[in-house]
Amino acid sequence: MKVLLLGGTADARGLAAGLAAAQVDAITSLAGAVQAVRRPSGQVRVGGFGGVPGLIDYLRAAEITAVIDATHPFAAQMSANAAAACARMGVPLLRLSRRSWSEHPDAADWRWVDSLSEAKAALLGRRVFLALGRKSLPDFAELSDQFVLARAIDPPAMDLPSGWKLVLARGPFELGEELELLRDNSIEVLVSKDAGGPAEAKLTAAKQLGVQVVMLRRPAEPEGVPVVTSVQGALDWLGLAAD
Ligand code: NAP
Repeated sequence: MKVLLLGGTADARGLAAGLAAAQVDAITSLAGAVQAVRRPSGQVRVGGFGGVPGLIDYLRAAEITAVIDATHPFAAQMSANAAAACARMGVPLLRLSRRSWSEHPDAADWRWVDSLSEAKAALLGRRVFLALGRKSLPDFAELSDQFVLARAIDPPAMDLPSGWKLVLARGPFELGEELELLRDNSIEVLVSKDAGGPAEAKLTAAKQLGVQVVMLRRPAEPEGVPVVTSVQGALDWLGLAAD
């Protein structure tokens, strides 16, 4: 068995550790998008493959026998490429993706949107916290006349409008610091992606302070790919027994 693990998430790092402990021949692939990357256990490769043809070449050259796509739920391009390349090569593919926050106890209180443009319409004239990462920030550039607090791990490529404030930080964040951030910046509305998994402190803080949450729905997953929501589920799929 030789596993290609498409990473960039905490679950991918957890799975890489599990595979290393089980002495499975595995390699984690990272996009190389984050400068100070948290390196997973085991072998790592960094950078795009070059679309579906590049990934097919990689699967063949590295003699990969199974692929686990543990990328972020919003990394839709990589997931689509993995589905297409694995189908072409007949390599088994599993999707590891945390359970959606649509099952979160407060989900009914949030405003769910399907696109960034729909999110924007809900933000006009309000004090906004964009907790979306740096790649999405250019889509909100037209909110240049209002206060926007933007949080990202690395600095964005764009120059932010003068009325915006940038916080460079990497989660997970504590409830206390999220409450302080929302309060200090008099935030009225928080925009989040449905990253899923354990409830994040920013959502609890928003509820406690009466801050509206605008939640971006996940893009659709490729059809026909089995999905698990836990590292253990992925280990089971590979036929590896629990500890
Ligand atoms: P994306 O839009 O789906 O992918 C764009 C391109 O980046 C892909 O076509 C691929 O290039 C390359 N790529 C993406 N993930 C890769 C991986 N794990 N290994 C090798 N190449 C990869 O992805 P994204 O939204 O930019 O996310 C990039 C990475 O950041 C992913 O690994 C994801 O797990 C992580 N991440 C994303 C988010 C988010 O909100 N999108 C949040 C947290 C972490 P080629 O076509 O050249 O192969």
